[in-house]
Amino acid sequence: MSNLKFPIYLDSHATTPLDPRVLDEMMPYFTEKFGNASSLDHPYGYDASVAVESARERISNAINARHDEIIFTSGATESNNIALIGTMEKYQDRGNHLITCVTEHKAILDTAIHLEKMGKKITYLQVDEHGQIDLADLESAITDETVMISIMAANNEIGTIADVASIGRLAHEKNILFHTDAAQAVGHIPINVEEMNIDLMSFSAHKMYGPKGVGALYVRGMRPRVKPEPIIHGGGQERNIRSGTLNVPGIVGLGKAVEISQKEMEPENKRFKLWTDEMLKVFESIGGQLNGHPTKRLSHNLNVYFPNVESKAIINSVSKEIAISTGSACTTQIVEPSHVLLALGHDENRAHSSIRIGLGRFNTKEEIDFCVEKITNSVESLKGIII
Ligand SMILES: *Cc1c(COP(=O)(O)O)cnc(C)c1O
Repeated sequence: MSNLKFPIYLDSHATTPLDPRVLDEMMPYFTEKFGNASSLDHPYGYDASVAVESARERISNAINARHDEIIFTSGATESNNIALIGTMEKYQDRGNHLITCVTEHKAILDTAIHLEKMGKKITYLQVDEHGQIDLADLESAITDETVMISIMAANNEIGTIADVASIGRLAHEKNILFHTDAAQAVGHIPINVEEMNIDLMSFSAHKMYGPKGVGALYVRGMRPRVKPEPIIHGGGQERNIRSGTLNVPGIVGLGKAVEISQKEMEPENKRFKLWTDEMLKVFESIGGQLNGHPTKRLSHNLNVYFPNVESKAIINSVSKEIAISTGSACTTQIVEPSHVLLALGHDENRAHSSIRIGLGRFNTKEEIDFCVEKITNSVESLKGIII
């Protein structure tokens, strides 16, 4: 008999479960090693500070950064806010123009709207049918006023991977700073801030089997040296870019999560690719169509359109056994069509008939086989129902 545990979690772009190896490493920092990492006068604080610096080392090694280029934050949302608001404020004498993209996460788009209210000019680049920007569009959007380009490394709905290296090269040729929201990329695909000419990069622990509420911002220290203004003020921690007592257990968890992901990325991605390819084949046999890029996509992502079947109906009909979603984790109850799917040129019907699957480290082949069959049956039985 099967020993499947329900509901099977296939929503890894929203968040991932904590890896038990990460929890093990964090535990002592909740209890006996509870010191404030800034209190260096005694072993409690000193031990905490050593743990934080070791996490910084692990993270910087993974992305080819220097350890002092890692700023710990509460997550990618905060990192994006510092990167956009802090940098546009700091370098306001260079200009007032920011270039970003229509398929970004709300943590970028809403911060850009805030910047517009503060008098900044924002260009939102369109994307092609696969979710990628056109480098020629990017180049022609650049003006004398352009301070920064912010383009996400991998999309959280369709998994499309951006040509980060080419964007970074162009930005540096034009002496413009380059920020990337890499919440879906770090720990999932190789990232090298030097080779990719990244100046600022946001990422988050809970998207790579670490704890929620902790993340980091990479801030380039040389060629060029970047220093965003802080957006919260206080004790001057993290090179005065992010004040506040450090979340030591969280930071330890982020360090361990990055280290594990780095080691296991390759075999994990091979496994995911095999499974998502297989799933797509079955879904296509019942009329499903892929949303996003056919190849330049996170291997654990699958966003599929089932014509004439409402995604909410699929999700509800399988909800006892499978946890999946339509797209980004909703913060409101209003069902708005995905801004990402619309940006690909799809209509609202397609946006309301698409589901997002995000595989994770702890899914098994048995779970995948079960889910493919369950979703296929659900789609087949819903097909006749007019929406
Ligand atoms: C999850 C996510 C965020 C937000 O990260 P938090 O750590 O939850 O604040 C930002 N951008 C992208 C692309 C994400 O997937």
